[in-house]
Amino acid sequence: MKTKIKELDEHLNNELKNSTNETSLDKLKTSFLTSKDSKLNKLLEEMKSYPKEQKKEIGQMINRFKFGVLEKLEKHRQELADKKYKHRLESEKIDISIQGLKQNRGQKHPLNLVINEIEDIFIELGYDLVNGNEFETDEFCFQKLNLPIGHPARDMQDTFYIDKNTVLRTHCTNMTARTLSKLAEDKTEFNNVAMISYGNVYRRDDDDATHSHQFMQMDGFLIGENISFANLKWTLEYMCKRLFNEKTTIRMRPSFFPFTEPSAEVDISCVACAGKGCNICKHSGFIEVLGAGMINKEVFALNGIDANKYQCLAFGIGIERIAMLKYGIKNIRDFYENDVRFLEQFKFFGN
Ligand SMILES: [Zn+2]
Repeated sequence: MKTKIKELDEHLNNELKNSTNETSLDKLKTSFLTSKDSKLNKLLEEMKSYPKEQKKEIGQMINRFKFGVLEKLEKHRQELADKKYKHRLESEKIDISIQGLKQNRGQKHPLNLVINEIEDIFIELGYDLVNGNEFETDEFCFQKLNLPIGHPARDMQDTFYIDKNTVLRTHCTNMTARTLSKLAEDKTEFNNVAMISYGNVYRRDDDDATHSHQFMQMDGFLIGENISFANLKWTLEYMCKRLFNEKTTIRMRPSFFPFTEPSAEVDISCVACAGKGCNICKHSGFIEVLGAGMINKEVFALNGIDANKYQCLAFGIGIERIAMLKYGIKNIRDFYENDVRFLEQFKFFGN
């Protein structure tokens, strides 16, 4: 019996060496201890054939064998679990000293930076922001702005026609016509109503360093019972000082727009030479930045506004022009080529 138990012990040790998972341990437990014809049961069966006086000793031996098997199985089970845990720790190890991967963050487009800045200025001054359509009817793009069909000034703005009555808007001023018309329609009494609107505009232009067939404008107006050209000048000068610097001054030159009278081209003192004269300002000390004026009586009549009661200052700003001056950009096409090397340079402006 002793030899038999020793052999079974050795057999178990060999089996354990090859057991790499829980299932094989369960199988060993079954075949050694728990099944009907288990090795334990066979030993117990065999014990019956021993004389009575030896049975106590044999019984103890079998018992030791039984607990020995249980102990070994449990020990091996624990070893397997430890091994598994260790492997998991190693495979999921995080090296906190490794250098991080560079995360590329996007940034605002330079045109949006300029728009946001101008928007902030006017919203602080009490202007409302109005969204506009890029598809526009001939009526609101031209007719209601004193540009009737056949008017020679329409040639100033080469237009993309979608059909006879629909155009890709040539200026943001369509929103001035729309907002004034709506105002006249909705209210009989109003005073000091102001809005800005911006977005893409389109003209049949050949693209070069300073021209693009698609560009961005912001238009704005303030209508009230006591609005003068002086208010217009103050507003634009205030905006230019905020946009460029405190020392910026403006100069207004007489001009012509079909929807304003008087009309003015607005220049700012050169941002590069502060008015002394340089290549950028072609040695004039001034740079043209926008157009402005007082909405004329004809436009008031076309949009149902009482010209005897109200005056309205208005302005139109070329966003690319401002951005080019502000950031020293030489080629308008840079704004539309989506070259990350160009765009990334604006990471530190207002982002
Ligand atoms: Zn200059």
